[in-house]
Amino acid sequence: MSRTPRILNGVEIAAEIKAEVGAEVRSLAAAGIVPGLAVILVGHVAASEIYVRSKVKTCAELGIYSEMLTPPDSISTEEMLALIADLNARDEIDGILIQLPLPAHVDTRRLLEAVAAEKDVDGFHPINVGRLQSVAAKGALARPALAPCTPAGIMEILRRSNISVAGQNAVVLGRSDIVGKPVAMMLLNASATVTICHSRTVDLPSFTRRADILVAAIGRAGFVTAEMVKPGATLIDVGINRITDAAEVDRFFPDDEDRAAQFAKRGSIVVGDIDPAAFKIAGAYTPVPGGVGALTIAMLMQNAVTAAKARRGVAEGRR
Ligand code: NAP
Repeated sequence: MSRTPRILNGVEIAAEIKAEVGAEVRSLAAAGIVPGLAVILVGHVAASEIYVRSKVKTCAELGIYSEMLTPPDSISTEEMLALIADLNARDEIDGILIQLPLPAHVDTRRLLEAVAAEKDVDGFHPINVGRLQSVAAKGALARPALAPCTPAGIMEILRRSNISVAGQNAVVLGRSDIVGKPVAMMLLNASATVTICHSRTVDLPSFTRRADILVAAIGRAGFVTAEMVKPGATLIDVGINRITDAAEVDRFFPDDEDRAAQFAKRGSIVVGDIDPAAFKIAGAYTPVPGGVGALTIAMLMQNAVTAAKARRGVAEGRR
């Protein structure tokens, strides 16, 4: 029996989370606390500038103090370390975010590790990575304090959409430090049976076909086809791939006039890692755009508030 797949609307879920964070910020303000976020944007990478601007804008909307530091491309690792040390020491700054990617000549790993763990709102510091691993598995849809934003957003989508995770077969495609590995760990903490696949996986479809929950985070346009998916599965599409080939647009989105018009206007459109044809046999899926991507900034805002509360000794409520 086929049924219409449920669209997991990231924009709506993000709005819900932002409203909750805004309310938390207001109650902190009543206690004289204003969470503060510093964003370091090095040089001029167009995509990074857009992301940072919308992070700063969302801070303003929610009442979070934000500061943007924009050192030039030529900044050295040592100079960056000094900048980070200064932010670590400032009491009004609760969260520090280094917008990636950084220029090739700076030591990204060293810089990420220099951010004080309690201000690491990206959840990339080894201490926070370690904490993610050591969360008690039982009943844990909860996350440790500072978890990476995109994976945390995925867990929020599942939780707020009442999709069962415990006991389900979850397959994660991709093993990056920012998406694949942490989301696999969070799914495991939530008691899923987790398989991680990557570019060296042999017979990848034999794994994806068994997935009740399939998370695709590989950065390959429409890689997961309908034949690779178990009917009724929940499909979480993390991929953001810009396609510029008209034939590809037609293949992924036949008869989609809106997208054809978008493509004609801009010369490119975005597609996820899952072929939209596979969504048709899913039980539920996150669209691209408007799915996982919509959550990332909301989770960053939540991390900034969590960091502020932890640093300033405000008790954490249930999440
Ligand atoms: P990444 O660091 O490039 O990692 C890609 C992963 O996919 C690697 O583990 C790689 O395997 C695996 N992979 C690549 N090709 C594969 C193939 N043909 N078969 C199986 N596995 C393959 O990427 P990422 O940073 O995790 O990002 C993944 C995607 O998510 C990108 O499209 C990115 O733009 C998007 N993204 C979206 C958000 C959001 O907010 N929605 C946030 C972050 C990333 P190996 O390890 O074996 O090389």
